[in-house]
Amino acid sequence: MFEYLTNRIMSSAFKGGIKIQRRDTAPSLNLQRIALFALIKAKLLKRVIFLAKAAALFSGSKGNSYYIGTSNEGVLIDAGKNCKQIELAMEAHGLSMSSIKAVFITHEHSDHCSALKVLSKKYRFDVYASAGTLCELEKANRLYPGTNTFEIKDSVALGNMLIERIDTPHDAAESCCYRVVAGDGKSALVATDMGIMTPSVRQAALKSDFAVLESNHDIQMLKTGIYPFYLKQRILSNKGHLSNAACANELAQLVQGGTFRLMLGHLSEQNNTPQIALATAVNTLENAGMKYKSDFTLDIAPSEITTQSVIF
Ligand SMILES: [Zn+2]
Ligand SMILES: [Zn+2]
Repeated sequence: MFEYLTNRIMSSAFKGGIKIQRRDTAPSLNLQRIALFALIKAKLLKRVIFLAKAAALFSGSKGNSYYIGTSNEGVLIDAGKNCKQIELAMEAHGLSMSSIKAVFITHEHSDHCSALKVLSKKYRFDVYASAGTLCELEKANRLYPGTNTFEIKDSVALGNMLIERIDTPHDAAESCCYRVVAGDGKSALVATDMGIMTPSVRQAALKSDFAVLESNHDIQMLKTGIYPFYLKQRILSNKGHLSNAACANELAQLVQGGTFRLMLGHLSEQNNTPQIALATAVNTLENAGMKYKSDFTLDIAPSEITTQSVIF
């Protein structure tokens, strides 16, 4: 490669009429430098094209979907809302639908799979999930007939990516979350819909360069809100959703462990606001001695389509 670049640069130098003494076996120090810079530039350009990227297409009780990978290959984690919304969100993030190599579903609740049938009919995507989730998707008629479905047990390699399954405690048949190692070796975890943090989800987050963690509700807002008692109990239970306070405590451990690119996901529209979720997390981390925007970055997964992706 070095020789090739050197020869190319030497040839073009001659074409330009610049007088350079040609030395085939030992190029001048200057030419060696030029060739080396060209090589570094070529490598940098290649890296720019394939940087790991996470796009929170939308998140929350009305629908969840994330694209994780690089610009040229990635996976969709969950397919909430509808096919059109996913297409529009992908476009808004500058991503092509053809970059999606498969769809991974975390569990059968409709905010995670309502777009799946039309999406798999139109694009013939392969669908991955736990056996329990696949069974529920089938029962609820969420899969287009003939769709290729695959049970993911531990991990699966797709293109240049590796996708790992980590189980989550939630009131679904067999829910899980996913960690994606992108083509450039960087990794991201999306972990929402879980009543409590488990050691294995925490470990997966600590291994990741970027982590989306559920910050579902403000406990006071939920307790004093309009939800019926049984629903409040369900959300607060170990198989419900992670509160702002519980999430904030976890984030502090993650930053201390070296995972400092963070995002809050699955915010409740009724029992939370982006401002409250952000303030709870930032205050907890700053009280533990970590400075916002200097020791860690923290974004909110949007409920509606935006254009802001995370390069991690
Ligand atoms: Zn959900
Ligand atoms: Zn759920």
